[in-house]
Amino acid sequence: MTTPQKTDALAAGVTRRQFIKNGLWGLAVAAVGAATGLSASRSSRSSRVWQIDPTLCVQCGRCETACVLTPSAVKAVHAYALCGYCKLCGGYHQPQAQRIDTAAENQLCPAGALIRTFVEDPFYEYTINEERCIGCAVCVKGCSQFGNGSLFLQVRHDRCVNCNDCAIARACPAGAFRRVPADQPYLVKGAPDAHV
Ligand code: SF4
Ligand code: SF4
Ligand code: SF4
Repeated sequence: MTTPQKTDALAAGVTRRQFIKNGLWGLAVAAVGAATGLSASRSSRSSRVWQIDPTLCVQCGRCETACVLTPSAVKAVHAYALCGYCKLCGGYHQPQAQRIDTAAENQLCPAGALIRTFVEDPFYEYTINEERCIGCAVCVKGCSQFGNGSLFLQVRHDRCVNCNDCAIARACPAGAFRRVPADQPYLVKGAPDAHV
């Protein structure tokens, strides 16, 4: 979910601390909700769409398997303002990783969808390749257990077909799915929930 805003700033040598001070990374997550929510969405035909409350999700894995779409319309997203930019990342690395690096055997993600980028010693940025992400929640669970909980799941509305009876909502053991206004289709972790 790397944005041009982030990429430009990194290229210009802006440090992690300056980013956080400026609030740009946190805003980048919120901007995704606003910018991609309706532009290409079939969901825009309805005034309400399905979304996951990240505070209720227990990372059961059914978002990957229960969606009518393959791969699922659910993807991991990242609240950068909450992230510690850790060298050893609970969402990225296997708990028993032999080395803290990007070797495939040391990564948690089964799809190779999490991208690790060096920022400045000892900080690393973690971004999600949504084309690869299958919504399995493995990284979300790792980040919740061993990190700041900055990775979470959201229904992506450029993919979701907005089923009347969402198959994942029916299968979700935590009651984490609910309808939200189509013009504010994301529930961003760490931000005030304007929909409740
Ligand atoms: S089905 Fe519910 S609890 Fe399971 S991963 Fe999806 S949102 Fe989380
Ligand atoms: S671990 Fe699963 S949810 Fe996380 S980025 Fe990889 S495929 Fe997506
Ligand atoms: S509404 Fe349909 S397409 Fe969207 S997440 Fe639920 S099952 Fe998948």
